[in-house]
Amino acid sequence: MEKKKIGIIGGGISGACLGYHLSLYDNAEVIVFEKDTIGGASTAKSAGTVCLFDDSLRNRYWDVRLYGFESYLKMEAEEKGSAGFDKTGTLVVATNEQVEATIKTGIALAKAAGYNGEYITDKDRIKEILPDISTENILGAGYTQDDGYFDGTMISNTYAKKMQKNGGTIKTGVKVTEVIKEGDKVTGLKTDEGITYDFDVVVDCTGPWSKFTGDMVGLDVPIWHTKAEAFFLCPPGKKLSYTFPVLKYPEFYALRAGDNIFICKSHLSMDLNNPMHAGQWDPDKLPATGGTDDYFIDFLLDQLEAKVPGIVDSGLVSSWLSYRAEPKDFLPILGETPVEGYYLATGYGGNGVIEAPASSRDLAKLIMRGESTPLLEDWAFKRLMK
Ligand SMILES: Cc1cc2nc3c(=O)[nH]c(=O)nc-3n(C[C@H](O)[C@H](O)[C@H](O)COP(=O)(O)OP(=O)(O)OC[C@H]3O[C@@H](n4cnc5c(N)ncnc54)[C@H](O)[C@@H]3O)c2cc1C
Repeated sequence: MEKKKIGIIGGGISGACLGYHLSLYDNAEVIVFEKDTIGGASTAKSAGTVCLFDDSLRNRYWDVRLYGFESYLKMEAEEKGSAGFDKTGTLVVATNEQVEATIKTGIALAKAAGYNGEYITDKDRIKEILPDISTENILGAGYTQDDGYFDGTMISNTYAKKMQKNGGTIKTGVKVTEVIKEGDKVTGLKTDEGITYDFDVVVDCTGPWSKFTGDMVGLDVPIWHTKAEAFFLCPPGKKLSYTFPVLKYPEFYALRAGDNIFICKSHLSMDLNNPMHAGQWDPDKLPATGGTDDYFIDFLLDQLEAKVPGIVDSGLVSSWLSYRAEPKDFLPILGETPVEGYYLATGYGGNGVIEAPASSRDLAKLIMRGESTPLLEDWAFKRLMK
């Protein structure tokens, strides 16, 4: 049987998950090139929340959310810890009627799929779930005990392992330095090992690096970087006496991280025209920790003071900065590009953990069978072309 040769640049959750989905086709020959370690870049900085309902991904994409969530649950069931699931539940706070409507639809969808979910307006009950919250100025909150957050690095490594079991190859510590074209068509790539590889298809899964890898084929990949500044707080008294759920407001979110609390400004509240929020920066210059701006911690502390006053006196333990790759409509870019044979699976922004499984499933089908899907049509490169 003639095999289709696919080279994937980038071994974050996007590349590892796509590699696995491609390896399920017996005529696919897949190599993932990762210049560093699997799941070590933006994926490692992620909060990893995959909530059954919140405002991070529109209900229109419910199936994407559900496929992601259930893929990781199955992974975790096959081998405990392989997706790093922490089942804390999620509390999504309705601060206005629009958010309330989104939450209520999300709850109905989750219940239809067999999960628990309730919309709570009894403020004492909300405080039972999260004693440190302020229930002033809120309409209610959606709550489920069934979800929580996962570990993006564990998931990426599990997908890489599964892909290798299916015959795929992973090359870590290998940087792609050139994408080779014959005429207008991509035919392979070169790496910093000095080796040339022939491919029928090359997929750019480099997230925040896509701006730079796209240059190798003369493609202007329309992404911005939004700053993802995460802060780890040690609550007053050092240890909370309750299970801190994933807590979602339109402006920010919080979750437990061991005995600490992780907080971050939400990606949909970032303004691509504000140079404090967004720009084009070099992800290779990011420090491993720190590098954050006072603006973000001040913003988050103001949010906590108004919304979760019980933890505002926490100590700041550590912080990190990462870049999220965001197209202007905050949705990924998947599939073919104007360069024949050069595909993109990038621009996952603040939702890559949720979105990678469904995106990879559909993109693998397109690459291997030439069959498109409604999701690929929605998230196609061509929507961003003027
Ligand atoms: C603070 C923070 C919180 C987040 N919270 C959530 C959340 O709660 N839920 C959610 O779903 N998502 C969340 N996200 C988003 C999610 O983490 C990202 O969308 C996702 O990790 C992006 O994955 P990726 O594979 O596209 O990119 P990356 O993980 O950055 O991987 C790209 C890889 O490409 C490699 N690479 C680049 N250039 C080359 C080259 N030339 N050759 C070889 N390799 C190369 C890099 O080394 C890197 O490993 C969050 C992100 C951050 C930063």
